[in-house]
Amino acid sequence: MNDVLIQNGTLITENTCQSDMDVLLSGGKIAEVGSDLGNKPIVEGAEIVNGKGLYISPGFLDIHIHGAMGEMCEDASTNGMEIISHALAKHGTTAFLPTVGASPHDSTLKVLSIISDAKETVTGAEIVGINMEGPYLNPKLGGAQRMDAIRRYNEDELKQYIKVSKGLLTIMGLAPEVEGGMELVDNLVKSGVIACAVHTDATFDETIKAMKHGLTLTGHTFNAMRPIHHREPGIITASLLNDTIFSEYIADGFHTATPIIEIAYRLKGEKKLVLISDSVGAMGLPDGNYEFFGINCKVANGRVSLGDSDILAGSASPLLYGIKNLHKTSEIPLAHIIRMATLTPAEAIGVSEKLGSIAVGKDANVLLLNKDLDVAKVWIRGKEFS
Ligand SMILES: [Zn+2]
Repeated sequence: MNDVLIQNGTLITENTCQSDMDVLLSGGKIAEVGSDLGNKPIVEGAEIVNGKGLYISPGFLDIHIHGAMGEMCEDASTNGMEIISHALAKHGTTAFLPTVGASPHDSTLKVLSIISDAKETVTGAEIVGINMEGPYLNPKLGGAQRMDAIRRYNEDELKQYIKVSKGLLTIMGLAPEVEGGMELVDNLVKSGVIACAVHTDATFDETIKAMKHGLTLTGHTFNAMRPIHHREPGIITASLLNDTIFSEYIADGFHTATPIIEIAYRLKGEKKLVLISDSVGAMGLPDGNYEFFGINCKVANGRVSLGDSDILAGSASPLLYGIKNLHKTSEIPLAHIIRMATLTPAEAIGVSEKLGSIAVGKDANVLLLNKDLDVAKVWIRGKEFS
C-alpha cells in the first residue's frame, strides 16, 4: 500500500473548512496534516492526489443501518454483509454498526455470530460494532419492527447476545418504561453496552430516571417515540434539554423535517446530534415492492413504507443523502453537519481516538467530496476503495 499525499484540498475539520490543506496517509493512518507538506522528506515517494476544488472529509460513521442492495443485517449472510459494506463505502460511509431489529432469539444469535465473523472479511466499510435495535421495545410504538419478536427483557438472552457477539455488541435499543426496562439499562451499562431509548413511550420523568441509570442515546429521535406534549413533555424534551445524552436523527427528508433537526441542533449542538441513515435493503434499489426480512415494503420516490400503509419502514438512502439534504435545506454550517456524521457518532460509541476526524494517528478513513458533496475518492485505512 502506497503512501498518499492529498494536496491543496479544503479540509473539513470539526468546526470549520480550511482551504489549501494537505493530508498524508501512511501505513493505514493519517500521518501528517498541514499546508505545503509537498517539500517535507516525510512525503517522499507518496502518490500525489490533487485535492484542488475538493473537500477532504473524514469518512462517515453510520451507527444505525439495517441494510442495502436488497440485503438486510437481520438475515445476514457473509456475502450479504460484504454487499452492504461495499454499498456503504461507495457513498462515503467507511465504518458502520450493522443494525439488527427485533427477531426471534435463535435467529438473532445466528446473525450476531455471522456479523461478528464478517468484521474480519468485509472489504468495504468496516464493521466497528453491532447495534441491536430490540427486541425489548414497546410494541405500542413498534413501527416497522417485527411485532411477533418484540418481548419482555430476559437476562439470560442478553448474556447470550453479548457472548455470541464476541465483544462487538455496542448499542442496544430498548424501551426503558416497559417492565424490566430499567434493569436492562443497568445490565447494559455493567456490560459496557450503550443503552439507547428507541421505539419507546417513555415519559419525561421515566427518561430522566433511565438517564440516571445510564441511558446515553435516543434512537431515530422523534420517530416511533412518544411525541412532545405541553403537559407531558416526554422523552424527546428530556433528550433536547440534557447534554449528557446523544440523539440520533434521520435527515433523509422523510423521517424528520429539517426545522425539527434545526431545533435539536440549536438546543443540543453538533457535539450531541448523530446523523444516521436507518437504511434498509431498499438502499441502492429502484422504486418497487419488496420483501425485506419477511416484511413487505413499498418504495415510492425513495420513501420506504410498510405494506400498503403510510408507516415509514426505514430509509432508502445512505448517510450521504441526509448530509446533502441538510446542507441544502438548513442553516447548519457544513463542518457541523459533517461532524454529526463522523466525530460525534465516534464519540457516542467511544471510538473517537481512532475514527471521526482527520487527525494525526487516526485511521486513514478519508473522503474527497466535490462541491456538490458527491464522492470523488474514498480511502479506508489508507487503501483506496474502488
Ligand atoms: Zn427503528
